[in-house]
Amino acid sequence: MTAEPNRPHGSPAPAASDGSAGGARERTSIPWNPGRHDLGMRATLLFPDREIVDRYYVPLIYTACRTCYSELDPDEIMARAVDGRVDPAKQRELISRVVDSGHGSTIEHVVFTFGISGVSRTLSHQLVRHRAGVAFDQQSQRYVKFKGASTMTPGTIAEADDELRGRFEAHLRDGLDLYGELVEAGIPGEDARFVFPNATRTNLVMTTNLRALIHMSGLRLCTMAQWEIRRLFQLIRHEVFAVSPFLGSFLAPKCVPLGYCDEAANRDEHCPIRPHRDTVLGAWAEKTRAAREAGRSLEVVDG
Ligand SMILES: Cc1cc2nc3c(=O)[nH]c(=O)nc-3n(C[C@H](O)[C@H](O)[C@H](O)COP(=O)(O)OP(=O)(O)OC[C@H]3O[C@@H](n4cnc5c(N)ncnc54)[C@H](O)[C@@H]3O)c2cc1C
Repeated sequence: MTAEPNRPHGSPAPAASDGSAGGARERTSIPWNPGRHDLGMRATLLFPDREIVDRYYVPLIYTACRTCYSELDPDEIMARAVDGRVDPAKQRELISRVVDSGHGSTIEHVVFTFGISGVSRTLSHQLVRHRAGVAFDQQSQRYVKFKGASTMTPGTIAEADDELRGRFEAHLRDGLDLYGELVEAGIPGEDARFVFPNATRTNLVMTTNLRALIHMSGLRLCTMAQWEIRRLFQLIRHEVFAVSPFLGSFLAPKCVPLGYCDEAANRDEHCPIRPHRDTVLGAWAEKTRAAREAGRSLEVVDG
């Protein structure tokens, strides 16, 4: 049993998602923020450090952007950007403009590598669904013999009534004990691991270019995402901010750059970060109707 399963595409949000025991919560406030709870997971930026980001990352992205509009060779543009002949503020301004326009290839030239540890297999299964611009390596359950495999307990179960929580914990313990007995009896680890639950913790290394990282963050920082993976991307955003507040500022729920929410499960706008697309289109239809009644036209005239 999973306390708050990753919701299938477009399915309605559960009545209660506040991480507390069972009780229904009003669906009119900002959804529960897993960031307030210590889930025992970590995300560490392994590469680059602040010095490399400061010296090369923004100039490199700037060079990719500027090459499109310049007669200069890329190496000359890069040299000017690195030694400050091009004002860093102007570099950031061009990058923001290009990224806002959706010209994403310019930010594929820089990568970030994260060490991710203590996340559940429930999370890692979701994470590795991302294919474009991202590479993973994950701790093997074949080659690692787990003496004391640790597990993740969802907040809803940790705070559930004693009897239910006790059964959950006993179930995990029995599975891990059985794993130990199977290995002890000579069953290979690759077969003994079949008893491991989704709650089993795991470690990964993830390298992603900035475009893919923004895309993943857009999906996974969204309040429709499952709580554990949302927490992971909050940690990732924190790490990127620490080396570059400018680049970190691009990591946001997808509704922020879009300006509206496109999640079918949020038609009731229980998540208030941005209005739902239906509301925006409804307001536009209303504005058009009022303009027509007043004898004005809001239609865009082809220039
Ligand atoms: C809230 C939420 C609920 C989800 N529910 C489910 C679920 O119920 N069941 C389920 O199976 N999955 C589910 N997923 C996973 C989801 O369907 C995607 O597989 C996952 O988010 C990876 O994202 P992506 O497809 O954008 O892939 P990425 O690899 O991150 O790709 C980035 C972008 O590259 C482009 N791209 C990548 N590969 C191709 C390709 N082969 N062809 C064309 N364009 C491509 C697309 O534009 C894509 O958006 C869910 C995800 C979220 C965030």
